[in-house]
Amino acid sequence: MVKDTKLYDTLEISPDASENELKKAYKKLALKYHPDKNPDTAEKFKEIAHAFEVLSDPQKKEVYDRYGEEGLSGDGGMGGMSPEDLFASFFGGGGMFGSRSRQSGPKKGKNLKHVLKVSLEDFYNGKSTKLSLNKNVICKSCEGRGGKEGAVKKCNICDGTGYRIQLRTLGPMVQQIQQACNECNATGEIIKEKDRCKTCYGKKVINERKVLEVHIEKGMKNGQEIPFIGEADQAPNTDPGDVIIALEEKPHDRFVRKEDDLFYTSKIDLLTSLAGGSFFIEHLDNRALEVRVDPFESIKPNEIKAIPGQGMPSRRHHTYGTLYIKFDIEFPPRHWTTDPKKLEILQSILPSSPKSQPPHVEHVDSLALTDLDALQQKTADNFMTNKQDDDEEGHGPNVQCAQQ
Ligand SMILES: [Zn+2]
Ligand SMILES: [Zn+2]
Repeated sequence: MVKDTKLYDTLEISPDASENELKKAYKKLALKYHPDKNPDTAEKFKEIAHAFEVLSDPQKKEVYDRYGEEGLSGDGGMGGMSPEDLFASFFGGGGMFGSRSRQSGPKKGKNLKHVLKVSLEDFYNGKSTKLSLNKNVICKSCEGRGGKEGAVKKCNICDGTGYRIQLRTLGPMVQQIQQACNECNATGEIIKEKDRCKTCYGKKVINERKVLEVHIEKGMKNGQEIPFIGEADQAPNTDPGDVIIALEEKPHDRFVRKEDDLFYTSKIDLLTSLAGGSFFIEHLDNRALEVRVDPFESIKPNEIKAIPGQGMPSRRHHTYGTLYIKFDIEFPPRHWTTDPKKLEILQSILPSSPKSQPPHVEHVDSLALTDLDALQQKTADNFMTNKQDDDEEGHGPNVQCAQQ
């Protein structure tokens, strides 16, 4: 479900083409339309390069698939590479049509990752939220030079490199030590105090507050990332990196989410499980579900039931997953009645299995049950409750010991 297939059409591939198919398509078309072969196809060659540049970058592709070309406007378009450079880098160095020197384009700045905690309600309903961040932007007063035009001189102590190599002799060995140039503070440039930009104090960038509007779409998931291409810190001669908003789902007090399904544990009393009734579940959109229990159902402890269509919305089509409900049956408290007549009524109503016969042995002891003390409880929890899950592994060591 891509918004626009134009770039895919340019490369004559389908939106679900593999990375390999993408590369093949680019290779074929870039060779065919290379302007060195035919100057009339320069425009077409550019389009092909642009399509490949976007679709071969997972982040740009994601933005393009979701928002189309509009999403890429600003600096997302051609990035730092010319079609010729892209061609050269793809075919390795000089390329097929004589060597074109590949200038190393501006370096790419660091991406900035920000974790945004999102409630399950917001994933369910969708939400737009504003996020403000501080970032460095190129100083407008000096256009990123740090001072008046012509005032910025190359540091002649370090020859503009920002560092100095010193040789140190250690016995027979000569060691090279690289040290930051302290004349220019490792910048490689010298600006006279009086010529320094008054706005950025020669730093070339200033810190600015920027507000990003983050659209959390219905059905987005934990771990999903929303890129803001080129929104990270700006620096001179650098392509700014991207701000990446990583969504993190906050734990919810009623539901657990797995993909598009929701899991819920419901406590119902023994009477409802036996005789039916209804209970309410507060959903994620200010709505309650009245769930009916069939009077003849007899729901067992830990039994799981489902309500289709009441899970999470799916990301692309907004169809809803399933709501799973696990039942926790609340039995009446100890000594809930001391009236033998009530028990007689129960005995007359509830089905009972016929009393089993004792095994054929010499003697039968009749005993009462006791409650567990703390230690017994711990022992029982270890060996009866937890072990139910990994039964097979649980018996392993004992079996081995017995055999040795
Ligand atoms: Zn220097
Ligand atoms: Zn400035």
